[in-house]
Parts: sequence; C-alpha cells; structure tokens
Amino acid sequence: METPVADYLEQVLDACATDDGEVASYIPELAAADPNRLAVAVCVGGGRVYAAGDAGVRFSIQSISKPFVYALALRDHGIAFMEERIGVEPSGDPFNEISLEEDSGRPRNPMINIGAIATHAWVGEEDISAGERFERVRAGLSAFAGRELVVDEAVHTSELDTAHRNLALAHLVRSRDIFTLDPHDVVDGYTRQCSLLVDVRDLAIMAMTLGSSGHNPVTGEQVVTEEICRQVLSVMATCGMYDAAGDWMTGVGIPAKSGVSGGILGALPGQAGIGAFSPRLDSFGNSTRGVRVCERLSHDMGLHLLAQPPMAVDAVRTAGVIDHDGGEWYRAVLQGGLHFASGERMLAQLADVEPGDMPVSLDVSRVASMNDVGRRMLGEVVRRLMAEGHRVVLVDPRGVTADLDTGDDAEPEVVEHSPHADA
Ligand code: GLN
Repeated sequence: METPVADYLEQVLDACATDDGEVASYIPELAAADPNRLAVAVCVGGGRVYAAGDAGVRFSIQSISKPFVYALALRDHGIAFMEERIGVEPSGDPFNEISLEEDSGRPRNPMINIGAIATHAWVGEEDISAGERFERVRAGLSAFAGRELVVDEAVHTSELDTAHRNLALAHLVRSRDIFTLDPHDVVDGYTRQCSLLVDVRDLAIMAMTLGSSGHNPVTGEQVVTEEICRQVLSVMATCGMYDAAGDWMTGVGIPAKSGVSGGILGALPGQAGIGAFSPRLDSFGNSTRGVRVCERLSHDMGLHLLAQPPMAVDAVRTAGVIDHDGGEWYRAVLQGGLHFASGERMLAQLADVEPGDMPVSLDVSRVASMNDVGRRMLGEVVRRLMAEGHRVVLVDPRGVTADLDTGDDAEPEVVEHSPHADA
C-alpha cells in the first residue's frame, strides 16, 4: 500500500494555490523569485519526511534562521545570560522595527531583526573571528537540517549592499552594549546566516529536531538540549510571526517562524515538523500561501497546540491480584507514555494495593517513554510499596528504570522477564 500522506499534501497545495501577495523586493535578489512556486514537507518523529509541490527548489532561509541561531547562542551562553541581553516579549511590531526596551536597552525578542542581529553576535565566545562565528552558525544550522548547508552568495551580496536599516539597528543595539563586536561584522554574519539555502524538507527536519527535544530524527544527533528547545519554541509561539503572532496562534496554533523569501517553518512538539514555501508575502512579511497551507494542515490534522486530544492509552494495561507459585501476587503492567496525567492514573490504580507483604510485580516493558515527572511518580510508587512491606519486582528488559529514584532504604529487584507464566 502507498501511504496517502503524500497525496493528501498535493491536495492541500492545490487548494491553497491562490495568487495574492507580493514577492519581497527590498532585497533585490529576492525580487527575481518565481512567485508561483509552492511546496510543503512534513517530518514526523521517526524521521520520515513527506513532501509535495516544488520540494526540490532551494531558497534562502532568511528569518527562519533566527530561532536556530538563538538556540546556538543559548547553547554557548545559557538561558539566563541571553535573557539579560535579549528579551522574550512579543513586540507587536514589524520584523525590522526598532524595538528596544527603554531601561535595559534589550531588544524585545530574538525573532525581530534587532534581536536576531544581537543574537548572532553571541554565537561562540567573543574573541573568535567573524569567519569562525559564521562557520559555527552554518555548522549548527546544518546539524539541525541533517545536511551541510551553503550560502547563496548572490543573495548575501544583494542584501548586504542594501542593509542600511539592519546596519542602523546593529549600531543602535551596540550603543547599548548588548554586544561588543563590530556592528559591520555582525550584520555581515547575520546576512550570511539569512542567505543559507534550504528546501522545505530541510525546514521540516529542522522543525522536528526542535520538536523532538533537540534530537534530529533523521541523523540521530542530539543538537541542543530539551531545555533550549522549550525556550526557543516558546519564543516562536509568541513572537515567531511578528505582528501576526496572535492571529497565527489562534488560527494555526503551531510555534512557527517565517522568512521574507517565502518560507514558513512550524514545529509541533512530539508530533510534526512542517516546512512550507511560496514567495508571495502578505503585509506582515509572511508567505500568503504558506500561511494558508499551515492553516489547512493544522485544521485537517488536528495540530493546534492547545487542542490536543486526551492521552491515547491508559498507563495501566492490567492490574490486580494473581495466583503465582502457590501464593498471591499483585501484578501491574504499565504501558505507553508515562507523564503527569498518565502517571496520576497509575498512582490512583496502585492505591488499591493494601499495605502488607504481598509481592508486587510492576512490568514496565511496554512503557514507551517517560518524562521526569513520570519517572518521579514511578520511583515514588516503588518507594511507598516497599516502605509498606512489599517485595517489589520491576520487569524491565530495556533498563528504562535504571536511574529511578526509589529513596535510600531499599532497591527493588529488577528482572528482564516477567516471573509470571502468562506474560
Ligand atoms: N534577512 C532579512 C532581513 O534582515 C530577514 C527578514 C525576514 O526574513 N523577515 O531583512
């Protein structure tokens, strides 16, 4: 059977191929883009990528580079350090606005140009050369994409020749000591970063890497930490679509970033990374058809961040007293993802177990994933059962409970195979 996802994406493109909006012209080289190009790609957790339309066409990444360069600066200097220099508040202004906070002089966020230019300056240590800094940016974005990205030199030159406003922004932010480097070097590096060539597949994979806690689902590389992804996705959700951020959040509900060459990247954590491309832009500088494609995908596939369905499966597959080896055991088989909501169900179910010396087997071989809260809850279950007198046997063939904190007093037994005959 052929998967219907690719056919579905073709249908989405057909339905979204209107011809409103204008190709960006303030960067002369971008004005030459074919306005009718249209492409979309979706990457899912296992690293599968589906694409449709002009998916082979490469375009300059432009402002979609901003969240990734922010991620690299966070990796190099930490969240607190970066927040002292660049805020995380939506500006409600266009992308090239002078948007500094009065008192601190901080750019309001790293998604508008003035914040993104300052962010570029904070990739790597201050004493590296501009060339080394750009190479760090290029290599970092390549790790997100899972492929070596290269600069479109024509776009870079064209933008740099006309970068008067960005130079003014860089000087302004430099005057507040938000960074100490030469503003010309920083704008040159920032402009190069915006000129890196990508296609919609690259965007989908980059998005899914952010949406997979920093783990590139295609190459397997851990590019940045989960904490950095949370910070970057939060800023994308509130500031990624500039002054259209509120409309975007209500209508599409996926943390996203757009660029003036017509790209849009959307990252729905744990579910999908989306890349869309079409050069005609609306008055906010967002791709008209790209926005429509994302609205449609979100609506059809139920991707709105704030309209997620309840957990698919109960965390407890079976639980109860069984006969074993001439005596009685309490046996619980856990499954699926263990996080706050499913963990709470597990706690409620295991509250059935009366204090006493009946052995308890907890089978975690079907637990697919566990976050920190799920892990703490499971550790607490084991600790309490043992404190109440039970012998606890964890059936854990994959070692998912290896660093479970069960308190100081006792360690549960861990076995690879269930002791029960019917398992
Ligand atoms: N390189 C572009 C600029 O600085 C990026 C803007 C954008 O994509 N919105 O003007």
